[in-house]
Amino acid sequence: MIKYNLKCKNKHEFESWFSDSKEFEKLIKKKLIECLFCKTKSVKKSIMSPRISHKKKINFPYKEIKRMKKDLAKLRKFVEKNFEYVGENFPREVRKAYYDKKKDKNIYGVATPKEAQELKEEGIDLTSIPWVNNKEN
Ligand SMILES: [Zn+2]
Repeated sequence: MIKYNLKCKNKHEFESWFSDSKEFEKLIKKKLIECLFCKTKSVKKSIMSPRISHKKKINFPYKEIKRMKKDLAKLRKFVEKNFEYVGENFPREVRKAYYDKKKDKNIYGVATPKEAQELKEEGIDLTSIPWVNNKEN
């Protein structure tokens, strides 16, 4: 199937589907295509059609992503093993750790973008980690 943008002599534009360009040529020669709006048989292909795409075909890097996911899963495991999960208390806990220098513990948890921004303004830099679901493969 091929889609053409068509234009009648009264400058109505509309789209129509054809099985292929040959079919379209045949129908247009026989004046079997009419304008959807004014029913005139004087219809031409609009200059815009057929659309030519200059877009490059993108090959989605599935392998790369799979590998990255594996690495992230490893990272997650590492964090889970070595850090203490504080969940939504994270901003509070991270402040405690930051202001009380004696406390040296590795924590991780969740912070809203606003909370992360506030912490950043206080001079606390956070590392955000894309969290992958372990079950996902
Ligand atoms: Zn028309």
